[in-house]
Parts: sequence; C-alpha cells; structure tokens
Amino acid sequence: MTSGQMAFDQLPLKPELQSRLSELGYRQPTPVQQQAIPLVLAGGDLLAGANTGSGKTAAFALPLLHNLVGKRASGGNFVSALVLVPTRELAQQVADSFVSYGAALKPKPKVLAVYGGVSVNIQMLALRGGADILVATPGRLLDLVSSNAVKLNKIQALVLDEADRMLSLGFTEELNQVLSLLPKQKQTLLFSATFPEEVQALARGLLHQASEIMLQNDDEPTLIQRVFTVNHERKTALLAELIKVNDWQQVLVFASAKNSCNRLAQKLAKQGITAEVFHSDKAQGARNRLLTAFKNGEIRVLVATDIAARGIDIDKLPVVINYELPRSPADYMHRIGRSGRAGASGEAITLICHEDYHHFKIIEKKNKFRLTREQYPGFEADEQVPESALARMDKPMAKPEGTGKKKRKKLPEINQQLWSKKS
Ligand code: AMP
Repeated sequence: MTSGQMAFDQLPLKPELQSRLSELGYRQPTPVQQQAIPLVLAGGDLLAGANTGSGKTAAFALPLLHNLVGKRASGGNFVSALVLVPTRELAQQVADSFVSYGAALKPKPKVLAVYGGVSVNIQMLALRGGADILVATPGRLLDLVSSNAVKLNKIQALVLDEADRMLSLGFTEELNQVLSLLPKQKQTLLFSATFPEEVQALARGLLHQASEIMLQNDDEPTLIQRVFTVNHERKTALLAELIKVNDWQQVLVFASAKNSCNRLAQKLAKQGITAEVFHSDKAQGARNRLLTAFKNGEIRVLVATDIAARGIDIDKLPVVINYELPRSPADYMHRIGRSGRAGASGEAITLICHEDYHHFKIIEKKNKFRLTREQYPGFEADEQVPESALARMDKPMAKPEGTGKKKRKKLPEINQQLWSKKS
C-alpha cells in the first residue's frame, strides 16, 4: 500500500495495538489511516471518503479501541461504540477486524456482531452486560432494543460504515429509529468509498463541526477496468469463454437480481463451469459458508447480487465481472472494489449489450471515468441495435436487493421511548 513515509509508531496508539499491527504485518498506515486516526483519537466527528480496500476499517477501529476499551458504562447492557453496516457479511467482517486489532489489549475488548438471519437468542445472551463495540445491521439491532437486550443511550461513538448506503432510502426509517435512541452528545464517524451528492447534505446533517477527508479520487492503478460490448444472446458464452481462456480460478460475477444469478449459474453449468449463487434468498448459514469457501479458493465462480458488493474483503481477488450492470453508479464502484484491494493487482470487466450502453455512460459520467469499448473476437456486438434489444429497453431494470421498504413489525417499546423523550 502506498502511504508516504509515516510509520505506525508515529501515531499515538497504545503499545498493545502497535504490537498487534506488526504481528499482522501492517508496516505503514494507509493514507486514510494517517489522516483519520489522529482525528478520531481527538474525539472529533469525521466524514471520510476513501477508495474501497484502502484500509478504512482500521482507520476507525484502531482509534476507537484505543479510546473506548475499558470505559464501558456499568450497570446495564450498555454499548460504548456502535458501528452500523448495511449487510450481514460486512457486520461479521468488521467485528472480526475489531477482534483481531484488539487481540492484545487488556482488558480484552468485548466485540459483538448482530445481524438478521441467525438466532436472536444467542445474540441476546451475548449482549448481557453490554459490549465495548457493537457492529450491527439496523433491523436486527432494533429488534434487540425492543426486547431490552441492549441499551444505546450511553453510546460514545457512532460509525456508519458504507455511510452512503446507510443514508439511502432503503434504510431511512430504521436509521432514524436507531438515531433517535442515541445520546445527543457522541462522536459520529461516517466512512464510505462513495458519497453521491444526494447523501452529502444528509451526512453533514448528522455531524457536528466535523473534519472531512476525501481521498477517493486518488488513482487506483492496481485495478484495471475493461468493458466489452456484446450481443445480449452471447453474453453468457462470452463470460464462459473469458473464464476458460484466462483460466481464472476465483471469479466474482455480479448479476442484477436473484433470478438472474440462478439462471446464470445454470447456464454456466451447461458450459462446464461450476458456479455457486450468493443472494438474499439463501439462508444466513449458507451465505456465511459460501463466502468462506469462496474466500478460501474452494469455489471458482460466485454469482452474486449487490449484497456482495459492499465492503467484503477477499484477499487478492483477481477479477470481478459485471455480467449485468448495477442500477446505481455508486454500486459499480463498490462492486469493482472487491478486486485490486490493499495494493494487490486486479481486473474489473463489464459486459454491456445494446440496452446497457446508455446506462453505462451514466455510470461512467457519475464516477468520472471513461473506458474504451472493446470487442472480444468472435463475440462482437452488432453495430445496429437488434430488434430484440429494443424490446428489452422498455423494461425497467431490476431493483437492487434491500432497497424496498421493509415490512417491520411494530416496535412498541421504541415508540414508547420516543414518546417519553418528546414529553
Ligand atoms: P478495508 O478497506 O478496511 O476493507 O481493508 C482492506 C484490506 O487492507 C484488508 O485486508 C486489511 O487487512 C488490509 N489493511 C488495512 N490497513 C493496512 C495497512 N496499514 N497495511 C497493510 N494492510 C492493511
């Protein structure tokens, strides 16, 4: 990772954190860590934008561990720092990072991850006596609050990881409910690789005299992006050809919806390529197993929806393929950011057919880049837009997972708390 000349021991972090970082082989803080760690240690609010894979987790985890461990309010299920994330997998990954970074601290930090799709009882038990760091998806967190398993009114720090997603419409209701349960005085940290204009005002509304770090316009020279134009009917065949010719052994393929993931995996199987699918219809246990197996190189092709786009850290993933485009330009950046992480080289290949041309241009414009359209020999797209493509252009794009309004059960206890706050 490029990070100038600074060493970790120039940052005023506890020796137990420093020694753990050397054990992990972290030699220098990354640019976002260099800038964010002193600001977070000083207790200020922060809005930080930096490329995917640039070490954002440690940028907030290290100073929070330094500041908060051993200072938890006693006498209830209190939590010192709350980290909100959009997906279950990210919750587990971020919690694992806190545990790893804090492994040598005394007292040992209590770090918990809570998210849906797994037993709530185990999480309730674990929350007895509170936690130093709680990493949560908002829905499950609210369920736990409503059953009094956790108290959020003594939070000292709040982090929104993948903040733009947390501030997007799909999470508004739940996020507002969580925010209403937190004390007014606290440190608020917003981290994301992308901050689209529409969420910037919202983000600043949550912050108080915040510092801002924006590093995401840095070049990302380790990640090469390519785009191939291809006829719709030949897309799967081109994907199979690319996988075979390049002999890729670990490929993450993004499709736009659960159905298209399933269909694509079946079509790849017919071409002799075994692929597993990863989307929200899978039980959480299966999701965790799939991700671990993919990370360990036991699954060659993982076909996923955008639930795998955010934050997931796969060591040295060589290639990401956009088989279908994401709706949002920000999601494009998150998807491709699964490769080329932590200074490793990577490739992001997007396959576009005629009906995607316009939308891909918007993705390029919003993300401020422009790629040369390439043709793969034997799979060239027709110059004329085919009739079949015209028909498909009228159809709306699939909605990404998790953006719809979720049906939640009423939370009488929360309403009660809100009411008593007002009165
Ligand atoms: P993140 O952006 O937090 O998901 O981190 C991306 C990857 O970079 C993870 O695998 C981290 O373990 C790794 N990483 C974070 N900070 C450093 C550092 N200072 N030196 C080396 N690797 C790092």
